[in-house]
Parts: sequence; structure tokens; C-alpha cells
Amino acid sequence: MATIGAHVSSQGGILTAFDRALEIGAEAIQIHPTPPQTWRRLHPDEEAVASFRQRMTETGLNAFFFHAPYLINLATAKEALLVQSRGSLRHHLEIANLLGVRGVIFHPGSHKGQGFEVVLPQMAETMRWALDETDGESLLIIENSAGSGANIGSSFAQIRQMMEAVDHPRLRFCLDTAHAFTAGHDLRDPEARAKMVDELGREIGFERLAAIHANDSKAVFGSNVDRHQNIGDGEIGAEAFRWMLADAHLSQAPFILEVPGLEHQGPDRANVERLRLLAGLPPLAPLLET
Ligand SMILES: [Zn+2]
Ligand SMILES: [Zn+2]
Repeated sequence: MATIGAHVSSQGGILTAFDRALEIGAEAIQIHPTPPQTWRRLHPDEEAVASFRQRMTETGLNAFFFHAPYLINLATAKEALLVQSRGSLRHHLEIANLLGVRGVIFHPGSHKGQGFEVVLPQMAETMRWALDETDGESLLIIENSAGSGANIGSSFAQIRQMMEAVDHPRLRFCLDTAHAFTAGHDLRDPEARAKMVDELGREIGFERLAAIHANDSKAVFGSNVDRHQNIGDGEIGAEAFRWMLADAHLSQAPFILEVPGLEHQGPDRANVERLRLLAGLPPLAPLLET
């Protein structure tokens, strides 16, 4: 049975994420530990680390992920941006380890016309360095892209090339369903779904699949556009999610919502309920008034 989770806000501090997840019935959590459009860093003191770890134990919400800043671009030709990107990636892995977070999901970046093969060694070296420089169990998780412009990672073959070049036991993969759809996997078609899962297993390996970003798509098939939609309200449709939630390989990984929400406030209880229903899970218990 798949675990259904969601990206939640951590406004007011990383500890607030647990209550937000509980409110919407999310059983796996993703947050931006720092504002994603900034290079800001997080410096939790010992007390903050202890409270975070305690809250994780209390709630049992240990499928907890960080999403690294969007500014990170490991494929850049600009020296200053590369230095910032390296530092930020390593920093996020460091605090993930400190806090006992399962892994850091990040977008590999854009080669801006240099070509993937040209930037691959630089990217691989950076990932390996960030992993080697950080002690602990936290995973570094590459997310597939929608493939707009020169964005890297829209094909499983490219992800495999990166993984082979890095060759590290703590490197993993996150499948974003909306990105996969606009990058060329037609999830509306049962045959294409099976083919995608096949290819994922062959190129990357299911043991490397750490998370699924469960998003419907506002953008049409093959458009390479990255626009998420609520489950069942987009171009992918509910049936594809029912199928993916039942797939033995995909459902090993937590399904994490990154959808706009019915009230445009981000992932909500309604979307969690939609995925639970499609997964054949019982509806959430009503929230207790306290
Ligand atoms: Zn995503
Ligand atoms: Zn996206």
C-alpha cells in the first residue's frame, strides 16, 4: 500500500510541518527547509534538533524529505553560481542528516546550451562531493524534469548516466508524474504507463526510487511544461493515479502531493483523500475539535 503524503509549508519553523501534515492527513512530508528562491541557510541549535527528532518519533512521520532551493544549478558554466549551488546542496544534506530527514530532493539544473555530456562530469563530481562530505544516512535524490529548454533529467537514460557517473549508495531518484507526462510518458495510456515503469526499472532500478511527486498536470502531454494540477483535474486524470498507486514497484515509494490545492493554498486534505480513495485506502478520520 502506498503511503500518501504532501509538501507542506514550514513557515514559522520546520517543526510546524508536522502539525500541517497531521491536519491534512499526510503520512509523508516534504518541505522547503529554507525559502526555495533564496540561498538562505538553516542553523538549528541542539534544542531545535532534539525537538524535531522527538516530534518525528511521536508522530511516526519519518518519511520526511527536504526539497532543495530552485536556485541550485549543478550544470551552470558560471563559477559563482556553481560555488553557491555546491555549498547549498551540501548544506541541505548536512541539516538533513542532523535532523534525521530521509533525503534531499533537488532539480539537477540546466546546461543552458552547453550540452548534457559536457556538464555531466561537473554535476557528478558535485553530487559525489556533497555525499562524501556529509556523514549520515540521508539520501541525495535527483528529480526528473519536464524537459523545458536545456533542463537536465527529463529522460530516465539521463538520470541513469548521472547515477552511474556519481556511483554512490546514497544517491536516489524521485519520479514527478507531471514532469514525466509532459516530458513524453503518456500516462493516460495503459500501455505507456507500463512502458514507463519498465523503463524506470531497467534504467534506474526500483531500489533507487525514493519518492514520487504525485501531481496531475495543467500542461498538455509532451509540452515539456511544468505546471501541476490537483489529482484528477488535469491532463493526466484519476485513472493513471489509480494504476500507479496499485503498481507494486511504484507504490513502494511514498506518493507526495505538490498540487495547487482546491483553495490554491497548496496540497490539501481533499487531494490526500483523492489519492487515498484511488489507492483503496480508508478515508481519513475526521479531525478532532480540540
Ligand atoms: Zn516535483
Ligand atoms: Zn514541477
